Amino acid sequence: MKKPFVTLEQLQTITQQYPTPFHLYDEAGIRANARALRAAFAWNPGFTEYFAVKATPNPQILKLLKEEGCGVDCSSLCELMMSDHCGFSGGQIMFSSNDTPAEEFVLAAKLGATINLDDISHVDFLRKTLGYIPKKISCRFNPGGAFTLGESKEGFQVMDNPGQAKYGMTRQQIAQAFKQLKELGAEEFGIHAFLASNTISNEYYPALARILFQLAVELKEETGCHITFINLSGGVGVPYRPEQPANDIAVIGEGVRKAYEEILAPTGMGDVAICTELGRFMLAPYGHLVTRVLHMKHIYKDYVGVDACASNLMRPAIYGAYHHITVMGKEDKPCDHMYDVTGSLCENSDKFAVDRMLPEVEVGDLLVIHDTGAHGHAMGYQYNGRLRSAEVLLCQDGSTRLIRRAETPEDYFATAIWE
Ligand SMILES: *Cc1c(COP(=O)(O)O)cnc(C)c1O
Repeated sequence: MKKPFVTLEQLQTITQQYPTPFHLYDEAGIRANARALRAAFAWNPGFTEYFAVKATPNPQILKLLKEEGCGVDCSSLCELMMSDHCGFSGGQIMFSSNDTPAEEFVLAAKLGATINLDDISHVDFLRKTLGYIPKKISCRFNPGGAFTLGESKEGFQVMDNPGQAKYGMTRQQIAQAFKQLKELGAEEFGIHAFLASNTISNEYYPALARILFQLAVELKEETGCHITFINLSGGVGVPYRPEQPANDIAVIGEGVRKAYEEILAPTGMGDVAICTELGRFMLAPYGHLVTRVLHMKHIYKDYVGVDACASNLMRPAIYGAYHHITVMGKEDKPCDHMYDVTGSLCENSDKFAVDRMLPEVEVGDLLVIHDTGAHGHAMGYQYNGRLRSAEVLLCQDGSTRLIRRAETPEDYFATAIWE
C-alpha cells in the first residue's frame, strides 16, 4: 500500500496557510534517497549525480540536492541560468541538450559546464559558435533498434525503442565525432546514453553500463581518446502503482560495479568516473499534489471534481500515466466506489484517474495525488487560463516553507499586449 508522507492532521494545518492545490515536497525523503544513491556508488571515487533539472526546476530543491553533493543536468538556457544562480560551478553542471540553439552552447561554455553533444553535426556547430572546442567534452550514443531486458510472463520487463528516438549518435558517428573532437583539441572524453525511461528493474543501469563500458573500450582503441567519464543518464524509475516493486539502488550500484570490474578495470580504464542524471528517481516519490474536492457529479459515471487540473500535473492527461490517489482520513475505508477524478479544464483528458476504486468521496475531502515530485509541477502549463500552483517544502523538522508561490492572474497577463 502506498502511504502519504503527511497525515490528514498535518495537511489540515498546512492548508490553513497554503490554499489547495499545491505540490508538497518531503525534504527528509529527498535527502535520505540522495544519500542512498551516493552510498550505492561510493565504490567509484569520481561518482556524481547530476540532477535532471527539468524534473523539478525549483531553486530550493536544487540547493537541497547541492548540499547532498549533487550536480545538475541542464538542457536549456533557463535551466543553465537557474543552476548558475543556485551556485553550481562549471564542474557541477552537465549540459545534455538536443537540437541546441547557439546561445545555449555559449552560456554552457561560459559557465564551464561539461557539454554533451547530441549529434555529430554539433562538433562543427560548437566549434563555429565558440571558436574552439572545450578540453572536456561528451558525446551521446544511440545504439538504435529496440532495447529490452528480462522477459517475464507479462512480456519484457523493460522495453524501449532507441531506434525511434531522436537522441544521440550512431556507433559510426560517435567514433568519428571523437576523432574530430580530438583533432580540434579535446583531451577528456565522456560517453552518455539514455535508452529506456522509468525502468522498474535493478538490471537497467547494469545493462546500460555494460553497453557503454564495452563501447568505451572500443572507442579508446579506435580513436586513442582518453575517456574519463561515463554517463548513465536518467531512466531509473519509481513504482507509480502500489503493486509495483521499488528499485533497490544498492543492488543497482553493485550491478554497475560488477560490470566495471569485468569490462573497464582489466583494460586499464579503472579511473573512469561514473555519472548519472537521474530526475524521476531523485524526486518523484517525494512530491504530493494536494487537492480538495469541489464537486461530486453523477451522470453516466461518477465524477470527483477537484481544485487541481492538468495544469498542475499533466502526466495522466498526456500519457494516461497512473498516479495513486489517497483520500486523506479514509485510508482504512474500503475502496468500493468507482470514480473518474477530474480537473476543470475544458478537455476530457483532464482526468487524474479513470475508473479508480476509492472510498466514498465527499465534497471537501483532501486528496493526495502521489509521486508528483518529478515531471509534475515542471510540466505545468496555462491552457484554459488555469494557473500553476504553489510548491511547498515539508522540512525535516515538520515545519513548512513556501518554495514557489502560486501564479496570479498578473503572471498570466504579463506577456499580453493590450493596445
Ligand atoms: C529527462 C532526462 C533525464 C532524467 O530522466 P528521468 O527519467 O527523470 O530520470 C536525464 N538526462 C536527460 C538528458 C534527460 O533528457
